[in-house]
Amino acid sequence: MCRHLAWLGRPRSLADLVLEPPSSLLVQSWAPRRQRHGTINADGWGVGFWAPGHDGPVRWRSSRPMWGDPSFASVAPVLRSGCVVAAVRSATVGMPLEESAVAPFTDGRVLLSHNGRVARAALPPARTAESTVDSALLAALVFDRGLDTLGDVVREVGARDPAARLNLLAADGTRLLATTWGDTLSVLVTPDGTALASEPWDDDPAWSDVPDRHLVEVTPDGVSLTPLDRREPV
Ligand code: GLN
Repeated sequence: MCRHLAWLGRPRSLADLVLEPPSSLLVQSWAPRRQRHGTINADGWGVGFWAPGHDGPVRWRSSRPMWGDPSFASVAPVLRSGCVVAAVRSATVGMPLEESAVAPFTDGRVLLSHNGRVARAALPPARTAESTVDSALLAALVFDRGLDTLGDVVREVGARDPAARLNLLAADGTRLLATTWGDTLSVLVTPDGTALASEPWDDDPAWSDVPDRHLVEVTPDGVSLTPLDRREPV
């Protein structure tokens, strides 16, 4: 399982967001606190964000562990954004190990990260994906159908592959959308903006856990949670 996070709010530096907190995404790459599947996230990492004066998101991705990227660490204090999606990866067995397989994926307008796994044969066909990794195929499906269908896509794919874990996290520059389907997600609302993260990056008691099988929408007006379905007894 990977770990991912997103921020919507007042612009802040990428260092402040993904490197500096005590249990930052950087720390989660070797010592996640709530990870249910896998122990470290060393198969690459990525961050995508919107920057003033540029149309659409930009990305910095790597197939190396996040702790092995000192060049990023040197520029991260001056990269600032009010809409960010970042992830560290623990590759699912059998999936490609390459930069193009690392989240966030994009169609040029939306960023999307997937924390989980899905049988690729269970996915409805979508236009060309960035990689053959399951997460990129799933992202391509969401891009084809539109961000507003995120919850429907997760329900449909979850029905086609009952063993799938489908925690998705997406942004379009003005809002965040996320799903919980088999893994953890927490939310932090602050006066400056809202964060979603696979696990809290510090011990602030204001973090709250999102229940499983929910759709989360974050806009400048607030956070809304919608159940995706009733959980089947196992
Ligand atoms: N299945 C995806 C991959 O192989 C995501 C893995 C994960 O969430 N750890 O990269």
